[in-house]
Amino acid sequence: MPISGLSDPSLFREQALIGGSWTDSTSGKTLSVDNPATGEIIGTIPACTAAETEKAIAAADSAQKRWKTRTPDERAAILMKWYDLILASLDDLATIMTVEQGKVLAEAKGEVKYAASFLRWFAEEARRMDGTIITPPQRDRRVLVLKQPVGTTAAITPWNFPLAMITRKCAPAFAAGCSMVIKPSELTPYSALALAVLAERAGLPSGLLSIVTGEAKEIGPVLTASPTVRKLSFTGSTHVGALLMEQSASTIKRLSLELGGNAPLLVFDDADLETAVAGAMGSKFRNSGQTCVCSNRILVQSGIHDRFVARITEEVAKLKVGNGLDPKNTMGPLINDAAVAKIRAHVEDALSHGARYASAPLSTDGRFVTPVVLEGVTSAMRVSCEETFGPVLPVFKFETEEEAVTLANSTPFGLASYFFTTDVSRAWRVGEALDFGMVGLNTGSVSMESAPFGGIKQSGLGREGGHPGIDEFLELKSFHMAGLKF
Ligand code: NAP
Repeated sequence: MPISGLSDPSLFREQALIGGSWTDSTSGKTLSVDNPATGEIIGTIPACTAAETEKAIAAADSAQKRWKTRTPDERAAILMKWYDLILASLDDLATIMTVEQGKVLAEAKGEVKYAASFLRWFAEEARRMDGTIITPPQRDRRVLVLKQPVGTTAAITPWNFPLAMITRKCAPAFAAGCSMVIKPSELTPYSALALAVLAERAGLPSGLLSIVTGEAKEIGPVLTASPTVRKLSFTGSTHVGALLMEQSASTIKRLSLELGGNAPLLVFDDADLETAVAGAMGSKFRNSGQTCVCSNRILVQSGIHDRFVARITEEVAKLKVGNGLDPKNTMGPLINDAAVAKIRAHVEDALSHGARYASAPLSTDGRFVTPVVLEGVTSAMRVSCEETFGPVLPVFKFETEEEAVTLANSTPFGLASYFFTTDVSRAWRVGEALDFGMVGLNTGSVSMESAPFGGIKQSGLGREGGHPGIDEFLELKSFHMAGLKF
């Protein structure tokens, strides 16, 4: 059943955008997309072929050659128009997102604004891609360091933030003068397609952006093997990121990899209890616990432990689980049945190793899962070493700062981390000691367009957003000028 209630129904497209043409697949094959809240089929998308992916790459290559000659101001003006159009369609984009992804409407609106913010930020950055001039040892020489676009790029994006994970990549790419072929998750293609409709209206040149829908195993290898694609930007699991890195080796592609996390959230005895509870609620239950920066392990010092568990359990009991389109609900469904099965497995494993419910026990209904608080959690349990990606809040108890930092860092992942303290010396000590790309002090949120976002260790390579975000799409060229007469 198509999405009803849109004020602009033309935003809902069931075709791919390839080289400037909205198209079905020549294979005739389609994939169904369902609503995780109801299980109903929303519509279909073309299962694009390898040949169609090649066509999108060729069109992107040709469009990029013209786009890179446009002035930064001209590129910025189109990005700003796109930004305005996204905000003007906020309600429709949020509805499409909630229906295909499940997150509650208020969060979907938040994501639309967050997604748009990258277009404005990188429109501004387009005007500041200045190089440098170097004075070398030789009297007759000067060296100019130019910043030039990488060229044709590709992006593969996940289902948990179907708009923002796209604009965080394509806004800096277009600002820098690159083109981009995007494969969105087959679970959430309609947000990406709506974004592309607005890109066309904003005046983005034909072919510069393609949205190739379909199966990862058909499209992914074409993007990685193509010598024309000079960079791949991927957000998703560490497992798939590693696979794409391997596949990209033969063409020595530049890579940005935003991968999985296992975020610790530390609450020290001297923390403000209410700030810590609010931070943990936000970082744990946003998007039903399905974000890469969700706190996965809650480490609480013994002096505040019981009060923290009691207060957060009260807050968890207030969450209302249901269809995200109903404004009284504060938590939507999980994305699919496999996600529900993983939650069950993690909770059962923890209980079998000695953890206890502090909240009401887990119950599931289709893809709806009640949020739970577990206490008595230890490193022997799966919740401590795997990304749970759902509304389970596992509490570990610790005694000393050193013990907490060691526990927090004992993971191969290094994306987000959070800690709560009112001691300024501890804030510096712990902030510097946590081995993560992002650290939040007295907050459960570390995402904004103006700060670099990304991980270390197995959480990835490169940074998105902030000033470094555009460098991911720029090459440095040293231009040596010799024989100058002084
Ligand atoms: P995923 O399974 O790795 O999928 C991500 C994207 O990769 C999707 O478009 C998927 O396509 C595609 N894909 C899957 N297998 C592929 C293959 N063999 N070749 C090419 N592409 C392939 O991850 P997910 O379940 O969608 O997303 C959740 C993961 O993303 C979590 O680990 C989360 O932490 C991570 N994440 C990280 C960040 C960050 O910024 N670091 C942000 C958000 C999410 P289909 O969906 O069409 O199969």
